Amino acid sequence: MVDHTAVLIVGAGPAGLVLGNLLRAEGIETLVVERAEAERVRARARAGFLGPHSARVLAEHGLGAGMLHGGRSHGTCAFRDGNGEFELDYARLGRGESHTVYPQQDLVTDLIAEYLDRGGELRFGVTATAVDARTATIAYRDATGTGRLSGRFLAGGDGGNGVTRRAVPAAAARYRQDHGVAWLAVLAEAPQSMAAVTYAVHDDGFAGHMARSPEVTRYYLQVPPDDDPLAWTDDRVWAALDTRMRTAEFGPLRRGRITERRIVHLRSEVVDPLQHGRMFLVGDAAGAISPAAAKGANLAIMEAELLARALVDALVRDDHAALAAYSRTCLPRIWRAQEFSRWMIELLHAPAAGTADAAFQHALRRARLDGLRDSRAHQNLFAENYTGI
Ligand code: FAD
Repeated sequence: MVDHTAVLIVGAGPAGLVLGNLLRAEGIETLVVERAEAERVRARARAGFLGPHSARVLAEHGLGAGMLHGGRSHGTCAFRDGNGEFELDYARLGRGESHTVYPQQDLVTDLIAEYLDRGGELRFGVTATAVDARTATIAYRDATGTGRLSGRFLAGGDGGNGVTRRAVPAAAARYRQDHGVAWLAVLAEAPQSMAAVTYAVHDDGFAGHMARSPEVTRYYLQVPPDDDPLAWTDDRVWAALDTRMRTAEFGPLRRGRITERRIVHLRSEVVDPLQHGRMFLVGDAAGAISPAAAKGANLAIMEAELLARALVDALVRDDHAALAAYSRTCLPRIWRAQEFSRWMIELLHAPAAGTADAAFQHALRRARLDGLRDSRAHQNLFAENYTGI
């Protein structure tokens, strides 16, 4: 037997949950299936920087109470290297917009609570194992066995390595880029050390500092792609951060216990088109992006809103125009974000050891930083891309 619903959503991340909430607000029947258990989904720390578009979407659709209460506005970032430090007050540049810092796990927790309040159905511990895009049907496995579920439409919100993307026909375009860079992403039980997001450019590799909450700060260290996170003891992490952040010159970091350490490979992937039969890809499933420009969750929210509007038109008004245009509406925005993320990667990273033109690349990176420090036009463009989607 196949359970049937109007919109079947695979994945309870920001993409699937924003979509589910917006559809429930219009009274549309939805079912979200999520592979992980509820506690794991509510605890998974990843993104933290929500752009102005995301904040607007969440607030406008009644999903922003937690963010408005617990989030903090953030509008400055700093760049450090051997020539000193400069700060960009990006909230006063470009379109004059800032970020809201709100941990992704808190946002996901809010979205789950609201979705259930809106009468949405959500099944944790259910793994989609196969997908038929043409009929919007999935095969699944859970603790009790296996089964099948279907919808009038299927939304693939199951992230960058999900099963819905694997169901995309071979004829579709798949753009893949491994940027050849990896970060050790750590969470420290420590308040932020600087007022601004700080990007440190160093011959040993990039280091980054980003606020998450008053008690927790995220740090990044560029590491070899095959590095073992367990080889990074707390002491080794802090020593590398001290060196690359040049704390002898700029002042010490506020240390704390490291509670998470993982290697993140900076990769991009875009699928074109995003519609296949009655399946629509949304969020990281549609286009995974390196975290270098903090765009992934923001793209997920933007796409989820567009897809929700299009599905409402189709299901409530029998108007399929926006659904047919979903791919071509989203893809230019996805590529703009990819372009900026790539620009950030080239700005921040030392060339790999042994790179033939390393000296040339260093000089270009220096010139790019100089442009950002000295030119108001560069700063405005940076600010617009940094906060925009
Ligand atoms: P996900 O959040 O990955 O959710 C997908 C869900 O699908 C998961 O819950 C998963 O368990 C479930 N799933 C997977 N397979 C199946 C299956 N077969 N069946 C059922 N369920 C399944 N983005 C920003 O915008 N700003 C930032 O500051 C930022 N910082 C980041 C820092 C780090 C260290 C990382 C790793 C990412 C960061 N990102 C950031 C990116 C952001 O976290 C992702 O882009 C975002 O989570 C994408 O949301 P999603 O809903 O598409 O996918």
